[in-house]
Parts: sequence; C-alpha cells; structure tokens
Amino acid sequence: MKAHDGMYIGGEWRPAATTDVIEVVNPADEQVIDAVPAGTARDVDAAVRAARAAFPGWKATAPAERAARIAALAGSLAARRDEIAATVTAELGSPLPFAEMVSADLPAGVTASYAELLKGYEFSERVGNSVVHHEPVGVVGAITPWNYPLHQITAKVVPALAAGCTVVLKPAEDTPLVAQLFAEAVHEAGFPAGVFNLVTGLGAVAGQALVEHDGVDLVSFTGSTAVGKGIAATAAASVKRVALELGGKSANVILPGADLERAVKAGVANVMANSGQTCSAWTRMLVDADRYDEAVELAVKAVAKYVPGDPAQPGTRLGPLVNGKQRDRVRGYIERGVAEGARLVAGGPEAPDGLTTGYYVRPTVFADVTPDMTIAQEEIFGPVVSIIRYADEAEALEIANGTVYGLAGAVWCDDEEKAVAFARRMETGQVDINGGRFNPSAPFGGWKQSGVGRELGAHGLAEFLQTKSLQF
Ligand code: NDP
Repeated sequence: MKAHDGMYIGGEWRPAATTDVIEVVNPADEQVIDAVPAGTARDVDAAVRAARAAFPGWKATAPAERAARIAALAGSLAARRDEIAATVTAELGSPLPFAEMVSADLPAGVTASYAELLKGYEFSERVGNSVVHHEPVGVVGAITPWNYPLHQITAKVVPALAAGCTVVLKPAEDTPLVAQLFAEAVHEAGFPAGVFNLVTGLGAVAGQALVEHDGVDLVSFTGSTAVGKGIAATAAASVKRVALELGGKSANVILPGADLERAVKAGVANVMANSGQTCSAWTRMLVDADRYDEAVELAVKAVAKYVPGDPAQPGTRLGPLVNGKQRDRVRGYIERGVAEGARLVAGGPEAPDGLTTGYYVRPTVFADVTPDMTIAQEEIFGPVVSIIRYADEAEALEIANGTVYGLAGAVWCDDEEKAVAFARRMETGQVDINGGRFNPSAPFGGWKQSGVGRELGAHGLAEFLQTKSLQF
C-alpha cells in the first residue's frame, strides 16, 4: 500500500494540521518505506469533535445494526489478509507466516467474535425493583503499541464500537501503516462518519493530547507500564476512565513430573515468538533443582532452531526487533545479565553472524538466574529467556509471584489438578495449563502493575459500558 498523507476523520481522509511526517522504517534493512503525518493537538481535537458528533446516533443504533457493521468489518479485514500481513512484516519485522496468523487472521477473528457476541448480549438486567441498563461510555481514546499492531487495535476499537462508543485511535509511531489499512476496512464496512477516527502521530504529542482532551470519556491504552502510569495520572485530572494493558514478566513454572522436553520447547518458542516482543511472554522459566541442568540443555537445543533472518523470506522464524532503540535496550539487558553473574548459555549482546544491518538480536538463554537479578525482574521485550532454579513448590510460587507484574504464565505438571492448584495461587491474569491454547474470547489483562481492566470477549465489551439503574 501507499500511505495516506492525511488523517481519517469524520468518514474521510482529511489533510493533517501540519506537514510534519513520521518516517516508517523496515527494521530488517533499516530503509525508509513510507511516511505518515505527525498529528498534532489540532488533529486530535478535530477527531474528537467528529467522534462526539457521531456518538448520539451510534449509541442509538440497535445492537443488530452494530453487529452487521462489525461483521462487514471482519469481512473487509479478511479480504485484506495478504496486504495486512505483508505490511506488518515490513513495518514491524514479524516473519510472514506469523504475521498472517497473529496480525491478520486473529484480528479478523476477534472482530467477527464481537458480531456474534452482540447477537445475544443483554444490555439491561433486572435487579430487584430496578432495571439496570448498560450504556456506552462515550468517546474512547485508544492508544496502541507496535508489537501486535492490528490485534491491539481490534481488541480495543471493536468492542468499543460494539458497545455503542465512538473512537479516536492513535496507533504506535512505528506501525502506522496497518492502522491506515484498518481505517480503510472500517470505511468499506459502512460505519457512519465519525464513529471511527484515526490520528497518526507521536505519543508525547498526539497521544498526550488525546488523554488530556475533555471530549474523551475513556482512554484505553496498551504499552509500557511507565507510560501507562503517566496516562492514568493525566486522565485523573478530568476523572476519565482508563483501561491499561501494560507490561509483564510472566513465569513458566515447570513442576516436578512435567513433560520437561515439551515444557522447555514450548517455553522457548513462547519467548522467541515475535522476537520476544510480547507482553504476555513467559520470560522466566522456573525449573526444580533436580532437573535444572537437563532443562538448560534442552533450552539451548530448542533455541538453536531460531536463526535470525529476513522476515519476508520463507522459513525465517526470528525477525529483527522493531527499531534501533529496542535493539540497543535488549542488548543492554543482556550485558546487564552477564554483569550481574547470570550464565550465558546461548546468544549474547553481539549482532548475529552476518547481520550487521537491521535491528537483530541473538536469541539468548541465561542459566543460573536468581530472582533478584534485573533480567528476572524487568520486562526486556526481546528474545531472552531466564532460567531460574527452585528448591520446592513454595519457593517456585514465591518466585513466580515475586515481580511487580502479573499478566500471564504457564504451569506444567503430569497431575493436572496439581497444576491447577498452583495456577490458582499465581497472582496473574492468565495461566496456560500444560500448553493450553490461546483463547481469543477469554478475558485478557493484568494484575498488579500489568494493568487495569480486561480485553477480549464479553469482559472486553463490558469495559466500554457504564450502568444506569432505574427503580420501579
Ligand atoms: P510506549 O508505552 O511508549 O508506547 C505505547 C503507545 O503509547 C504508543 O502509541 C506511544 O506512541 C504512546 N505513547 C507514548 N508516550 C505517550 C504519552 N505520554 N501519552 C500518550 N501516549 C503515549 O512503548 P514503547 O514503544 O516506547 O516501548 C517501550 C517498552 O514498553 C518496551 O520495551 C516494552 O517493555 C514495553 N511495551 C509493552 C507493551 C505491552 O504490550 N505490554 C507494548 C509495547 C511496549 P509512540 O509510538 O509515538 O511512542
């Protein structure tokens, strides 16, 4: 695609308020592939006004009408599958088959799931002598990151639209092209003008203006915990609701009796997916002392299959990181791990062989990681696995719960009841038992500093509703 040079506001592509642009760079070869307008507070204001104007009409539509538009959107996204996947590969660096699955099929599927959900959703309920109505919150400001750029857009925008809210989206500066494709799909699906609006731009400028705007009723943000805290503080000034989907440092707990080979292989694959740029990645692998050395050996064997390379080439399993800043940040964490005494058993901070251009990082495994180390506490957001030894289950639980985060996790054990009992004691929003599959209709979101609120399925829809009780 060729990027639009304007903003999608009020159902049309309008000229931006300035001529400043953001260049979009292909992380595999560091070449500029396109540019989008760098939105300002004026663009945001125009978009919020359009969303406000569209709100009363959209709120009043029957759920069946909203379901019809959302089903049409799912169809428009599905029809753009190849273009979406190629765009995400070009601007983010995801290997093409992964982009097809996670950045094209998943968002189309999540969108379709809301068309289905709306068919049976009860927007009012009786509570004693009251009827409680669930009504749309109003205008939603959606701010999304680059790591799963279309999934994170659909996980917010689609339930907001399903609820009857109108939306202004500010996507990540690194991945604006797929956001423009989403706007094209919305347009094609026939939503009324102003129901969905897109402003590309920098977080500190356009994002900040959206959070501060008095015409926005709810901010839904996905990204770093640091920026999320700032957004919550800014939103508090006008008592806006916030939904925050933030960072993670999830534990992959391999209990005695687990199928070690399977658990380690799946654990390594989970971290290598998307070059480790996944908020829910199981970056800490917890193994009991008796089988620790065997697990380290298996992890080294598993990670050898992830050879960094051009994500557009068939067969590539590990692409680059999104930009030079993230590459340097991740390499910095690897250096820190070495400096703090962790044992590097695969990878390292140097550029991968033969890949001096592009934002590549060696797939890395650390052994002898202790829970207090920086690499065991902070979100690295790169292809780095930390293997931590535990003496008994009590210690495993203490380590698993011993970070400020609580987004996801995994438990492996030959006794499923035992695995479930352990998972129930974990302070986290999601736990996969013995490799349980991702469920796009199950609530997704964090405990502790991993966030506030839930996305996906009925819980994700409820996020955009508020209640009104009528007494009889
Ligand atoms: P950020 O949290 O900075 O960015 C996420 C989104 O917020 C982007 O759209 C960004 O815009 C926007 N934003 C940034 N600052 C503001 C602001 N002051 N007001 C409103 N919006 C703002 O993530 P980064 O891209 O900087 O990544 C840094 C780290 O964050 C990663 O290394 C990783 O640890 C973590 N991260 C976690 C994610 C998750 O899913 N949990 C997703 C992405 C990152 P812009 O793109 O212009 O910066």
